[in-house]
Amino acid sequence: MEPRFSCTACGKCCHGWLPLTLADAVAHASRFPLAMVWTPVRSNARSYELATRLGATVRLPNRKTVAVLIVPTAYLPTSFPCPELQDDGLCGIHETKPSRCRTMPFYPYREEKDQADLLIPRKGWQCDTSATAPVVYADHAILDRTDFDRERSDLLDQTPAIQRYADYMLKYMPWIVDELAKLAAKPTGGNLVTSLSSFLTATRRPDAADIAAAQAPLFRAMAERTKDDPALRDYHRNYSGWAKEMEGLARRK
Ligand code: SF4
Ligand code: SF4
Repeated sequence: MEPRFSCTACGKCCHGWLPLTLADAVAHASRFPLAMVWTPVRSNARSYELATRLGATVRLPNRKTVAVLIVPTAYLPTSFPCPELQDDGLCGIHETKPSRCRTMPFYPYREEKDQADLLIPRKGWQCDTSATAPVVYADHAILDRTDFDRERSDLLDQTPAIQRYADYMLKYMPWIVDELAKLAAKPTGGNLVTSLSSFLTATRRPDAADIAAAQAPLFRAMAERTKDDPALRDYHRNYSGWAKEMEGLARRK
């Protein structure tokens, strides 16, 4: 049966981490508390070759090589709704929402031929996959590919900046290689989270102080919201530390 899919705007997928293009992260810096999420992709993974083009390639201490996706991400606990999700389940910034939200459920960090399982709604999601929903994917190809192509193209364009960031971090924070090696060895994989301020510093963005000024109050607010929940201790620690880093960067204007 051909995969069918239609979004019913239930808002269920608008929770937790939201991977963004760099352009979207900058454009929405006053909305989303941002972090950089590193995900090793092993050389036997299906999307390895694509990951080497979209991310960085890192030689591990055991001489194996991994591709590492480094993704600007709206960094929210899984239980937290996107700050733009309205009470009626609709998106408050529909006209200007990030590429990631437009391309859903497709995902341009994967090859186009490997998208079929993304059309199966996760538990609790109310996506319409019934016989009346439109066919969106056939013969391993996306039928309306405008949003997918735009997001993929933005990801390819931002690769030099991501690679510069990786080079900087691996030089000045060599412990990251050991962390990536540990994650790559885990059967379930995993992620490493670093601060947006490290990215702004590494890439010497001329708008770094403005981005930092937009981020600092978001981190302060998130630190406050997470301070009493032991399950969110890591989030709270990151938000608190990053608020101070962003305040420092904002003063450099
Ligand atoms: S920006 Fe809009 S569509 Fe995207 S996660 Fe937030 S509420 Fe959902
Ligand atoms: S879970 Fe499915 S139906 Fe609900 S907002 Fe996300 S894509 Fe749309």
